[in-house]
Formats: sequence, structure tokens, C-alpha cells
Amino acid sequence: MIKPVEDDTIAAAAMRDAAVTYEEIGDAEAHIAAPADPALHRELPENTRAFFRADGPLSRLDSARKYEYRPQQEAMAEAAAMALAENHNLCVEAPTGVGKSFAYLVPAIHFAVKESRPVVISTETINLQEQLLDKDIPLLRQVIGVEFKAALAKGRSNYVCLRRLYMAVGERQAEFFPDGPALAEAKRITRWLEGHPGDGSKADIPFNCDGGVWANICCEGGNCRGPKCSFFRQCYYWKARRSWDQADIIISNHALFFADHKMKIAGEVENTLLPPYAALIVDEAHTLEDNAAEHLGLRITQTGFHYFLRRLFNSKGGGGLLLRAGKETLELRETVAELEGLSQTFFAMVEQLLIDRNESGKLPKKQCKLTGGRGFESL
Ligand code: SF4
Repeated sequence: MIKPVEDDTIAAAAMRDAAVTYEEIGDAEAHIAAPADPALHRELPENTRAFFRADGPLSRLDSARKYEYRPQQEAMAEAAAMALAENHNLCVEAPTGVGKSFAYLVPAIHFAVKESRPVVISTETINLQEQLLDKDIPLLRQVIGVEFKAALAKGRSNYVCLRRLYMAVGERQAEFFPDGPALAEAKRITRWLEGHPGDGSKADIPFNCDGGVWANICCEGGNCRGPKCSFFRQCYYWKARRSWDQADIIISNHALFFADHKMKIAGEVENTLLPPYAALIVDEAHTLEDNAAEHLGLRITQTGFHYFLRRLFNSKGGGGLLLRAGKETLELRETVAELEGLSQTFFAMVEQLLIDRNESGKLPKKQCKLTGGRGFESL
């Protein structure tokens, strides 16, 4: 825990008065490097304070959204500035109406520009991401007095993979889309992408794309050839990645943040999603624990496993990536069929175990976690 200096105490007192609570929770993680510029310790809180003053730049904002001086917002912004400058963690709880997003965006922008490294802002919902990118950041650009770039980071599977798409609608149609409607859907997506400059993400396509079709043509970590791919220059995903590399503020979501974090802690540097960043700000943090469990834990479902196997080889309906002729693929197809049978047995055994250990003798309705020796716990 960092000892409060006088300014900390002032910020804490102001926050208490304003029903904003905050807590310093130790030093930031070791992989987030300490700021290089000692002047930041003084400048960042000072600049932030000046910005939020009653007669500061915010009061001159040319917006329909009328600015109203809020001491709680100023106090939160100053505490965030000090946490960034001193490289320690900060936890803030504040009610609606405080103006939290401006309170962290302003010090984050100054900090990222000074440090020449981005600050990642992670949110749970698309609504908040849109608010930050389409409303808050454009407004701040008018008055903050520094040039900065902001980018939205989405997971790989949000972007179409041109290599897979053109294989799927071209010479390998039979493997990807043995049925006509799925192929027609993929061709429709192709026509739309070829006729419209866009970011190649699912959200940018104006009609609903079938989930199964999209899964066959989207970017996947294990399937991406990176710079060796003949589509690399046009690749939507890699274009987006380059824009994240140049951004000062990267708006992410918790899922992407944890997927990246998992790779960083595993040392898989070549597969990381986000560039090295100077600090992380988590908004909508109430879902953080679930996201951490989802991404850093192990999860397997029967449907997901069978879907994965069927993408390799569908022993009943035909199709799959292993459909090509050859002794090796024949052996792999046999292995896939065997795995399908074994996985059915495995999941049936897990189901029976849960029924046997449930007092009611039925399958528990809630999700549960198997535990060593004691049966299972409801989640
Ligand atoms: S670079 Fe990767 S994601 Fe992009 S088109 Fe090629 S294989 Fe697909």
C-alpha cells in the first residue's frame, strides 16, 4: 500500500464528501513499467486539476451536453492521475452522474502521450465502448490541448479472414460449405466486402451473418499465416492491429484483455493481441471476476467439442477440413470419429456423476464445478 501524501489525503477527503470511494491497492503489475519521466509526478495531477476546474477547458466545451462542475469528478480524475504518475493501482467506486469516463480519460490521454505508449481501457459492454469512442473522445479532442489517437480493439474472430473466405467461396467450397444456403451466404458476404470500404468486421456488415458461416470465414489465431499470407497487406485484422500499435488510447473489452493477458503471462509474445501498454483502466469492473474465470480457467462443453470435431471431419454428413485424399488424412478422419465416440462417453459419465451426487437424483439445473472427493459445488 502506498502511503498517502498530502495531496492523496485531500483527494480522499473530497471523494468521501462526494460519495466516491477509492482505494489504493498496491503497486501496478511488474510488466507495466514505471513511468520514465519524473516530471509526470507533478505535471499529470496538475494538468488534470486544471482541466476540471470550474473555469477550466471543460467549461468551454462546445457541446449540447452542458458542462457542470463536479468536485467528485475532479477528485476522481486527480486520484487517477496520481495513480498513473506513481505507477500504483487504484480502485474507484462512484455513482452515476459523477462523470467517471472523463475523469479517467483526461489523465489517461496525457499519460499515454507523455509516455509514448498506449493506455488500454477495458469495458464489458459495446454501449460503453461506443460512448467512449463516438461521444466522449470526440468532445475531449476539442478542448484537451494535445493530439492523440484512439482505436477500438476487437477480438480476431470479429474480422473476416480473406484467405479463408476466398478458399471457402472458391476452390474448396465442398469442404467449407457442403450445403447450398451456407455457400450463398458466404458469397453474399464476399460481394458486400468487395463493394464497400469498411473495417471487415462482423459489426460493419449491415445484414445478420449466420454464426456457422461466420465461424468458417473469420480470422482464427491457429489458422492465420500472418506476414506469410498473400492477403496480409489487405488483411482487415492486421490493419486493425497496426492502428492499435499507433494509438494512444485503446478501447478494448474484458474478453480481449484477458485473452491477451493469458498469452502475455504464458510468454507467447508472438500471439499477443494488444501492443505493450503503459497502463490499464478497467470500467464496468463488476464482471471482471467472471471474465477472468472464463479466460484464465479451463472450460469445455459437449456442443463446443463436437462442433470442433465436425469442423475437422463430419463422419455423418460429410465435409470438414480433413476431407482431402491421402493416407494421413484417412487416419486422422478415423481418429476424429473415434474421439467423437469417446467424448460422448465422457460427457455421459460426467452427467451421470452429477445425477448420482445430487440429492434430488436429477441433473442439477445450475452450473456446477466438480471438486476432488467432495462431489460438486453449485456456482
Ligand atoms: S493474414 Fe491471417 S487473418 Fe489475414 S487474411 Fe491472411 S490468414 Fe487471414
